Amino acid sequence: MAEALKSVSPSPRERVRAMMEYHPPLGCRDSLRLDFNENTLACSPRVREVLGAISAGSLTRYPERAPVEAKVAAYLKLQPEQVALTNGVDEAIHVLFETFLEAGNELLLPVPTYTMYEVYASATDAQVIAVQADDDLNFPFERLLAAITPRTKVIAIANPNSPSGTATTRELLTAIALKAPQAIVLVDEAYYHFHGETVIDLVGVIPNLIVARTFSKAYGLAGLRIGLLAAPVELMKWMRRVLSPYSVNSVALACLPAAIDDETYLRWYIDDVLAARKEFEAALDELNIRRWPSSANFVLVDIGAQHKEFVRHMREAGVLVRDRSNDPGCDGRVRITIGTQVQMKSAITALNATMAALRQEAR
Ligand code: PMP
Repeated sequence: MAEALKSVSPSPRERVRAMMEYHPPLGCRDSLRLDFNENTLACSPRVREVLGAISAGSLTRYPERAPVEAKVAAYLKLQPEQVALTNGVDEAIHVLFETFLEAGNELLLPVPTYTMYEVYASATDAQVIAVQADDDLNFPFERLLAAITPRTKVIAIANPNSPSGTATTRELLTAIALKAPQAIVLVDEAYYHFHGETVIDLVGVIPNLIVARTFSKAYGLAGLRIGLLAAPVELMKWMRRVLSPYSVNSVALACLPAAIDDETYLRWYIDDVLAARKEFEAALDELNIRRWPSSANFVLVDIGAQHKEFVRHMREAGVLVRDRSNDPGCDGRVRITIGTQVQMKSAITALNATMAALRQEAR
């Protein structure tokens, strides 16, 4: 019987067999975490209080998201029907693509960008059209505009973008949405808090604009998995069909209002990171390391041929950073998350030691 069972291995859908694999390097992360652009310190202490007060009885219930969605919508000055909470922006992307992308459609993707767009697109029958940025890694506006065809169904734009850290403007995003009225323009504002500019106020004004936000970055809740989609009601109603009603768990829902209410903590964290970014950029300049202008809580740097050694030396010095060499047009480039000023002081020490060691090795 065991032999007979071995020969029957049910096969997945063809699409899934062709799907891109993505295994983020999450193991052994006890060092200073400058590798995933998370908050590097903590969430608001008010969230901790809520967590402590969660009763065993409350966990027996299925999560009810609507009241929290209404609160978040009010906070964003949107209607409750225009906001859907999701299990991180990753689920938001997945749901949006599952709702809108089918055979014959094209997904336009300025690259390099966030990996999960391509991963989730590869589970659909749509074709990915990558639009490469120039060496300055600025938003390839003209090229993107020229790539729009009647088959374009979704245009996914992270603003600010990752791994580059560069940002584009409201004017250019609006121009793209107007040029492709048959397509969804997804503006992923995962790093909004470090940039300060948004198009979320245009949701419901521009009929094909959808905005995504996350609570994983500035808010420090990556482990709770909370993101959101803000979309015109007409589009949201289709995405709600695809979205699981329970995908945001009740612990996350309980914590979210406290996180949003503690604006003082959020402001402190953002300001500290922005000050740390300035200091870290100065340290990079001092070492003559090429960097790209960042509107986010990370900086992309050009290490060149020694990128692997750089990541290894930094790890040995207690700092985790992310090699982005496999991203299109990013050979030799490494992305470094910006933490607090205190943390970045030790990152600068590690950076100086690493560069000294690399220069020694290069001799
Ligand atoms: N969008 C971008 C641009 C990101 O960089 C990330 C995080 N790496 C995400 C979305 C995912 O966010 P979440 O944790 O909410 O799934």
